[in-house]
Parts: sequence; C-alpha cells; structure tokens
Amino acid sequence: MTSTEKSSEQLRREWVIHPHFRYRGCAPDPDDPMRMAGDPSLHVGAHNGPDAFLPEGQVERREREAKAIEVCLNCPVMVQCDAYASSVRPDGRLAEPEGVWGGRRALERHKALIAARHAVPAASTRRFQTAQKRAVLAALASCWDPFDVAEAAGMDVRTANWQRSSLVRLLGLPKDVSRMRALAVARERGLLEGVELVPDDGSVPAIPPPTRLPVGPQQLYMWGVEEFPAPVEVQPSAGRGVRSPSMRVKFKRVEGQEDLVMVEADSLAEVHEMFPAEIALEAAA
Ligand code: SF4
Repeated sequence: MTSTEKSSEQLRREWVIHPHFRYRGCAPDPDDPMRMAGDPSLHVGAHNGPDAFLPEGQVERREREAKAIEVCLNCPVMVQCDAYASSVRPDGRLAEPEGVWGGRRALERHKALIAARHAVPAASTRRFQTAQKRAVLAALASCWDPFDVAEAAGMDVRTANWQRSSLVRLLGLPKDVSRMRALAVARERGLLEGVELVPDDGSVPAIPPPTRLPVGPQQLYMWGVEEFPAPVEVQPSAGRGVRSPSMRVKFKRVEGQEDLVMVEADSLAEVHEMFPAEIALEAAA
C-alpha cells in the first residue's frame, strides 16, 4: 500500500507514533513551553501564525513562514508530517489546509493537490466524455435525489447511481466525498463548463446510499373466474411470472409500477379486454 492509498487518519497515526515525533522541531521547548524547540527564538505557534484577532502583514507572514520552514527542514519527522498534512480527507479537502506543515506552506500544498488532480492520465480523462457520464454529471449539478438525477439524466436509477460512483472514482476522490466537493473538482477539471450548479448544504454525498426500489410481492387477484387460482402471488425477484393451470402471466418489474394489481372479471374474455397488451405479449412469447 502506498502513502497515497492511506487515509489521513492512518498517516497522522504514523506521524505521531514515529519514534522521533517527540523531537519534532515545532514541539514546545522543554525550558519554555511558549518557545519552539527547533528554534527558541520563535513562538511555539509560529507555524500557524498569530491568531485570527491579530493582524499580520504580508512581509511579516513571509518571514515567519520562512523561519518555520527552516525548522521543518531540520525536523526528523518532516516526511511523515508532510504525508499527513498533504493527504486528502473524505470530504476532498487537505488534512491540514492552514499553516506550515512538513516544510510547505498551505498554498504550496493546495497547488500540489490541484496539480495532482489535473495529472490524471489523458485516457482516464476521455472516460469522462461518454454520453452517460456527461448526462449524469450535468444532472447531479442540478439535483441530487437519486430518482431526480436518474430522470434528469434519462436513465434508470441503478445506472445513474453506478455512473455517480464511477465519476467519483475517476475524479480520484474518496467514496464518501460530498456532492459539492465532487462537483467543485469536476469544475476544476473543466467538466462542468456552461452547467449551472444548484448548491446543497454540503452534507449530500456524491454517491448515494443504496437506493431502495419498491419491494415486496406483487399480487394478482382474480375473482369470479373459477378456473383461476386466487390470489396468485408473483415474487418480483423471480422476474418471470407464474404459471397457473389455465393461463400464464408474465411480469417484468417496472420502476414505479404499482405493487398490487386488482382484477375483477367474470370471464376470460373480459380479462383479455382488460389486459390486451399483456395477453398479446404472452401470445408472442
Ligand atoms: S515538519 Fe515542521 S510542522 Fe511537521 S512536525 Fe516537523 S517541525 Fe513540525
């Protein structure tokens, strides 16, 4: 397993359990906890700068960051620290989006992340260009309910969900990434040009949980026709229908169809009248 396949939590654990972690440059100085062990002339929080209520000019910030980076360059756990800080969380963001970590400024880590996403091989980029993927991406930009996305993309829910999962994988994002983050990355890749984005509150997953299609037995009740057994139960999972002594009925599960079919008929001819399409289908089979 490479470091890019490890989660942020794993990489952070590897960093903090490293035998030299206690000797890291940004640790508090044992003699003065407000100073930095790697450079006692620096405040212990120099890697992150003053708190939000203190102003800091651009020149001062550059100088502070340069000194912090100098400390990092002499740090025994710089590699592990950088691997963790530059890793990507499930929401698609950097594990440490602020401050100096592992010898790199926040802006450098962000640029590296964007460059890595753009460095996806051309062959993989072409795989975004299928009609289904383009349709699902555009649909996902306008809505997020699995049924709405499928309808907007012009396909069934199962296919739309599968394409959403495939898009997330191709974008190099974790499975539990949010819809907004996935769309932001897709936009960075130039896949949403001219598409208007309808935002959500950030909690909607890009890949929906398994969509529950209507389940339960479908029942065909037949009354008044003595030769028909009543009721006849048809299991949707069978998908083929049932055979009765006098007739055969085929069902194909269609999304949105009603689970219960009530039939009242006095004769077989009346059933033919009521279900001409089904009977014709049966005759053709
Ligand atoms: S690399 Fe820098 S930020 Fe990371 S532990 Fe070392 S001194 Fe601290």
